[in-house]
Amino acid sequence: MPRKASDFGIRSNRLPEYAVDRDYELCIGCGVCIRQCSFDVHYLDEDHDTVRSRSELCVGCHRCSALCPTRALAIKPNPAQYRAHGSWSGEHVKDINLQAETGGVVLTGSGNDKRAPVYWDNLLINASQVTNPSIDPLREPMELRTHLGARLDAVNIQAGSLDSRLPPTIPISTPIVFSALSYGAVSFQVQLALAQAAQELGTLWNTGEGGFHPRLREYGSNTIVQVASGRFGVDLDYLNSARMVEIKIGQGAKPGIGGHLAGEKVSKDVSATRMIPEGTDAISPAPQHDIYSIEDLRMLVFALKEATNYKVPVSVKIAAVHNAPAIASGMVRAGADVIAIDGFRGGTGAAPKVIRDNVGLPIEFALAAVDQRLRDEGIRNRVSIIAGGGVRNAADVVKAIALGADAVYVGTAALIAIGCTLCQKCYSGKCNWGIATQDPYLAKRVNPDIARRRLVNLVKGWSHEIKEMLGGMGINAIESLRSNRSQLRGIGLTAEELSILGVKPAGG
Ligand code: SF4
Ligand code: SF4
Repeated sequence: MPRKASDFGIRSNRLPEYAVDRDYELCIGCGVCIRQCSFDVHYLDEDHDTVRSRSELCVGCHRCSALCPTRALAIKPNPAQYRAHGSWSGEHVKDINLQAETGGVVLTGSGNDKRAPVYWDNLLINASQVTNPSIDPLREPMELRTHLGARLDAVNIQAGSLDSRLPPTIPISTPIVFSALSYGAVSFQVQLALAQAAQELGTLWNTGEGGFHPRLREYGSNTIVQVASGRFGVDLDYLNSARMVEIKIGQGAKPGIGGHLAGEKVSKDVSATRMIPEGTDAISPAPQHDIYSIEDLRMLVFALKEATNYKVPVSVKIAAVHNAPAIASGMVRAGADVIAIDGFRGGTGAAPKVIRDNVGLPIEFALAAVDQRLRDEGIRNRVSIIAGGGVRNAADVVKAIALGADAVYVGTAALIAIGCTLCQKCYSGKCNWGIATQDPYLAKRVNPDIARRRLVNLVKGWSHEIKEMLGGMGINAIESLRSNRSQLRGIGLTAEELSILGVKPAGG
């Protein structure tokens, strides 16, 4: 567990990030905030029969203020801030103090929150006017269905007869897929809601690398299972219970490093699902120790295809990194049916902050560069691309498809729909919203049925908006938008950035 200054006999110099402001005119002393806060911020001062707060422990998750029956609480940024400085932000000073007190790595959760450019915001979508009239999606057919998996490259004539075997593909009714959120990182209730929502929507959810819980296997036809370096829960039954198998090489939030689920989170149920002893740390090594080349990757891809009798597509997921286009080309040649690319704004349950905020690439560049490379090599049709890592709304989905994706992975947005407030303390296991926790008391805060409905509503809402944008462009099928970069224009981008994105400047 992260160490504290007191473990070293040091008094912490760090300023509290938040100030808990309690309006005593409104507070009725009901104690809801005490029960709701897993970070022990609120307590009863029995001498004065008054509820008080230790602001320095607050992580700004807003659980208490949202549930306080009289709205007596306001969680505010602490007005006492570090002295302003052009080079040394308060965050720099705070992190240095934390490391001086603990000698450890600064951990974080959720996605990169830095001011790195979000290139979605520099892309504008086209609309039809006069010529090529727009389409009204309420009155005319509009197709969001797409297929994940390899397309048939060419008709094969074998031994004088037509080989009509098709590679396995998965039809999904909307180009939005729930990204990997492993059991252990998130609660069972969250996975159940994701699985049920995916089934209702006709799309897919992803178990992540934490195994496939027996109670969720009935949703197998809407499930992607992962094979990561830890091989948690992987056996023949696991592989054959799913609709797609994904080899996880990397994750956008922490490219190049492995994962570590602390033993405290490896409950009896998590241990059974991951097939590891209860209470032991679940370590995913940084590399897959059997993959050091594209040839090695090919062996694993085909081992998984053999194990599943060539009935399900095999995906390979990488983090968006500098040479992603060349790697993607190798992945296709290694037999991957789907390649998933995860940008550096992607979320995580736990990552060193310095990695999350400084390693990797924005998905917009990686996606455009990969799509172009595969087109240049004439192999784009042999694979589907799923892009993830910072997809925030329906417009981002449309822009991703136009830059070359077949579908997008959505993780953080799904968690926000369930209740996540981006407090970034997922690694603590104390998520007050019951999402990133294995504490049964906290996990019960997610009602799977309500969470399912919220997820379904979110994806339906985005899907309606995607149809509106497609109709506005005069396009009636999402597959016609794929790699159709002429429907995008860039604003505020350099010539080099426009060139990598393959997009003309606005007005051009
Ligand atoms: S950590 Fe969350 S629940 Fe606890 S005081 Fe802060 S905002 Fe309230
Ligand atoms: S999942 Fe929970 S701990 Fe993580 S950012 Fe969201 S609210 Fe915070």
